[in-house]
Amino acid sequence: MTEQTDVLIVGAGPAGLATALGLAQAGVAFRIVDALPAAQNTSRAAVIHAATLQTLGRLGVADSLIAQGIKAPDFRVRDGDRVVLEVNFSVLGGGSPFALMIPQDETEAILAARLQEMGHDILRPARLTQLDQRADGVLATLDQLGEQHSLLARFVVGADGEKALSVPKRALPFRAPPTAPSCWLTSTWIGPSASTR
Ligand SMILES: Cc1cc2nc3c(=O)[nH]c(=O)nc-3n(C[C@H](O)[C@H](O)[C@H](O)COP(=O)(O)OP(=O)(O)OC[C@H]3O[C@@H](n4cnc5c(N)ncnc54)[C@H](O)[C@@H]3O)c2cc1C
Repeated sequence: MTEQTDVLIVGAGPAGLATALGLAQAGVAFRIVDALPAAQNTSRAAVIHAATLQTLGRLGVADSLIAQGIKAPDFRVRDGDRVVLEVNFSVLGGGSPFALMIPQDETEAILAARLQEMGHDILRPARLTQLDQRADGVLATLDQLGEQHSLLARFVVGADGEKALSVPKRALPFRAPPTAPSCWLTSTWIGPSASTR
């Protein structure tokens, strides 16, 4: 029988796990799947910036991340003795005046542990191989160790990384601006005392 859910989340990296936590908090039925048999153990994205940390705080994981990470109040790029770039995070508002250094595998483990505390497991290994739009939802085909399983969802969240299969690329065209700089760092403060920041 075809399993049914409201939301299928494809990918249990940071994006998929954070989406799952948000849906779990909101009481929305979902299934989160990942092609890999276990989470990756490499550091990859090693910094969480203040605005992201605030969002993760609303998902109940900021304290664990802060306890495990290293707070970096500033960031410098040097050329020998010369400082060529200095970014001061300590002026940021919102309770997180720092960048948090923490390897991605540890971030994922903290998010996954919180998800499990809330009663949700990641279905793995389960690789999405096909999506078919139907009148009653989206029918996903999942390959689980060579066996094909079907799952019908009202919505699909594509969090399967840069080689995403779940996002029809022609439906979401992306064109980089012609003058795109090679490095972006932004943070926005919205709220009282904005003029003093
Ligand atoms: C070697 C390396 C080094 C990096 N270093 C840095 C760094 O220093 N700083 C930085 O900011 N970022 C770095 N990144 C980038 C960072 O890892 C990504 O931005 C981040 O992982 C994106 O998170 P995500 O949740 O969108 O996707 P991912 O973390 O890529 O997660 C996608 C998940 O989807 C799963 N998946 C894929 N296809 C399917 C499918 N068909 N069915 C089911 N599941 C599927 C994958 O197994 C994976 O677990 C690095 C990446 C790599 C590969």
